[in-house]
Amino acid sequence: MQKNSPSMWIATREMEAGGSNRRVVVVGGGLAGALLAKRLQFDANVVLIDSKEYYEIRRASSRCMVEPSFADRTLIPHTDYLANCRVTSSPAIDVTDTEVLTAEGRSFVYDYLVIATGHAVEHCATKTRKQRLEQFHQGSNFIATSRSPPTNLSLDFNVLMVSIADNERIRSSSSVLIIGGGRTGVELAAEIAVDFPGKKVTLVHESSRLLQVLGPNASQKVLKWLKSKGVDVVLDQSIDVESIAEGDTSFTTSSGARITAACHFRCVGRPMGSSWLNKTVLNDKLDRFGRLAVDANLRVRGTKNIFAIGDITDAAGRSGSLAHQHAAVAAKNLKLLLKGGREEKLAMYKPSYSSPAVVSLGRRQAVVQLSFATIKGHIPGWLQSKDSYVAWNRRQMGLESETN
Ligand SMILES: Cc1cc2nc3c(=O)[nH]c(=O)nc-3n(C[C@H](O)[C@H](O)[C@H](O)COP(=O)(O)OP(=O)(O)OC[C@H]3O[C@@H](n4cnc5c(N)ncnc54)[C@H](O)[C@@H]3O)c2cc1C
Repeated sequence: MQKNSPSMWIATREMEAGGSNRRVVVVGGGLAGALLAKRLQFDANVVLIDSKEYYEIRRASSRCMVEPSFADRTLIPHTDYLANCRVTSSPAIDVTDTEVLTAEGRSFVYDYLVIATGHAVEHCATKTRKQRLEQFHQGSNFIATSRSPPTNLSLDFNVLMVSIADNERIRSSSSVLIIGGGRTGVELAAEIAVDFPGKKVTLVHESSRLLQVLGPNASQKVLKWLKSKGVDVVLDQSIDVESIAEGDTSFTTSSGARITAACHFRCVGRPMGSSWLNKTVLNDKLDRFGRLAVDANLRVRGTKNIFAIGDITDAAGRSGSLAHQHAAVAAKNLKLLLKGGREEKLAMYKPSYSSPAVVSLGRRQAVVQLSFATIKGHIPGWLQSKDSYVAWNRRQMGLESETN
């Protein structure tokens, strides 16, 4: 399976602090990779390779855009929660059977590799925490001052923020089309429906139910709620976003239906963060969506020492709580293998929806999916808006809920 010989790399090979410790390289310092590195740091020689220097609590990003001071607690330097792990802040660009190469020309030998590069990063110029904090401040300035937001916005959290703070475009449109019924599309539709009850809102989603990251019960509740607010939800149909031109007001769905809307928002998924694997030994492990195929133990299919966790995998579901579970299972399995344990003892990944998953419905309501029930209304909405689960996330990293 060797494709690129390490000798071809003009790189500094990082011989990790040897000893009897085995070397575990974790690529990606999002929720899954960060938690895994934390759990494993005292069991092996762990290196975390992340394109940025900090872990970001993603579910709080939108709040940070409107309230930049909030970001301080949500951008956590990797070195704050990793006491015994080497961190390198440079994107991984290649991998062989034995090493990972970074963009800055260093290579890291591994006995075990964990790939956790999630979704492609939309804010690529923010390697440092300071840059990211500035981005939030600039974003909020833009929101506060902009009188003419762009006509078409692509999916990321900016969509929600522009609509919250400066809704000129929505305000001046009698009808709005939202393409994509994932978390962002649903939250945006809900927000418009609540803030602008007179507007015609159409939400087009390619699957048979909204919010596949949540269970069917939650999808059903959200659908019912949206309909009760007058949102026209079109399921099982898609719109080719590539074919949409600036200023278009008429859109054709995959079944040939025409939808007219004065403005539209693209809330279709970001690509996976796996393009760096395209020309590597793992290329044939990627599916057509760019996800890594994993087995029941979260190892990349057909490999013995390479794990994949979080959003990048083809395992069922994609959410913060599932990324959390992936990290726990992979850490357990790695600990077993590092101790020379038998393969038959490897833990199996079985997704559990026991951690709450929250989707906001306008400013005051939300749907919360718990292990025993799915609740809709003002109480989950209050919980979501209060802290965006930042304190909980920080505790997962072993940190105080507040910064000093
Ligand atoms: C705005 C937003 C809000 C969300 N809200 C919620 C919510 O309320 N509840 C919920 O359960 N889930 C939520 N999610 C989803 C949740 O955040 C993800 O499921 C979770 O972050 C997945 O974690 P991950 O580690 O797999 O990937 P990511 O968080 O995408 O992290 C990937 C990491 O890999 C790094 N990386 C990428 N490419 C490379 C490379 N080549 N080399 C090195 N590093 C690389 C990135 O810098 C990043 O640190 C939200 C996501 C977003 C974007």
